[in-house]
Amino acid sequence: MGIIIENVKKTFGTADGKGGTVEVFSGVDLKVRPGEFVSLLGPSGCGKSTLLNIVAGLERANSGNVTVNGRGVVGPGADRGVVFQEAALMPWLTVKGNVIFGIKKRMSAVEAEGTAEKYLKMVHLSRFSGAYPHELSGGMKQRVAIARALAMDPETLLMDEPFGALDEQTRSLLHKQVLHIWGQTGKTVLFVTHNIREAMLLSDRIVLMGVQPGGIRKVFAVELPRPRDSLEPEFAEMEQQIRSLLS
Ligand code: ADP
Ligand code: MG
Repeated sequence: MGIIIENVKKTFGTADGKGGTVEVFSGVDLKVRPGEFVSLLGPSGCGKSTLLNIVAGLERANSGNVTVNGRGVVGPGADRGVVFQEAALMPWLTVKGNVIFGIKKRMSAVEAEGTAEKYLKMVHLSRFSGAYPHELSGGMKQRVAIARALAMDPETLLMDEPFGALDEQTRSLLHKQVLHIWGQTGKTVLFVTHNIREAMLLSDRIVLMGVQPGGIRKVFAVELPRPRDSLEPEFAEMEQQIRSLLS
């Protein structure tokens, strides 16, 4: 159970139209235990989004196996909630309308409304449920995106640099909220970032991805103990270690 990635290979066709391919990675193995928070950390272009999209069912691996809670991934599914860097809210719907949109086919209108309200409260946006996306800050939009993903009640949450476009202060606030929500809901989380501190703050385990000649692959995994509060000295040391492993 959890997320199991075994011996996964992914290539993309080259842009010249001659039928050539470029390998993003091969031989990738990764397990995320149920309820575990794992960050994929690595420089831009190393294949983090590609791997997350494969788990989300938005990209297909060329070979290998990917299962989420024992089910083979064949496409997107409500068992996996996804949050991207851009919230991509529907501008013609209110905040609550955006959350309801994804769940209204699965429950009655009254239930959908109640569910949306519950998750908007969780991300502290109850007061804005009637607002439109253009009235919100970037951080608030991301909180709507998180509420929208949670409202589907997925077992697994996949997040691809969800706070990458936000300022430091907003990001730090959202880190606290994500940790709180994670503690409350016990979701399995695969979180993509290129921010070392962010990965260290949030994760049970960090999987480092690095660029190597001829391919891009997972290079190392670091386990982090919880709770984090008293770890500052060790944190600085660990950050240095991770930095040197990535370079
Ligand atoms: P990251 O998320 O770590 O920044 P990506 O997974 O987005 O990296 O990209 C990994 C590599 O795959 C990059 O070299 C990128 O250019 C390439 N790539 C990603 N998506 C496509 C695509 N749809 N077509 C061709 N190449 C792609
Ligand atoms: Mg990416």
